[in-house]
Amino acid sequence: MFGDKSLKCTVCNKNIEVNESIVVELKLPSQLKMPYGMLDAALRKQADRIICSNCKL
Ligand SMILES: [Zn+2]
Repeated sequence: MFGDKSLKCTVCNKNIEVNESIVVELKLPSQLKMPYGMLDAALRKQADRIICSNCKL
């Protein structure tokens, strides 16, 4: 998992594709810990669950 640059669905473990619509569950970080930079990197760090278009139905 470490060093893996792809964003994966928490349910089926499929790689999330560019332009795919996803559902993300996360806790809003405090101002001090607010992530910045690439959204996928921030999501990998912050998101509790990432659900791909197949699994969210
Ligand atoms: Zn999925």
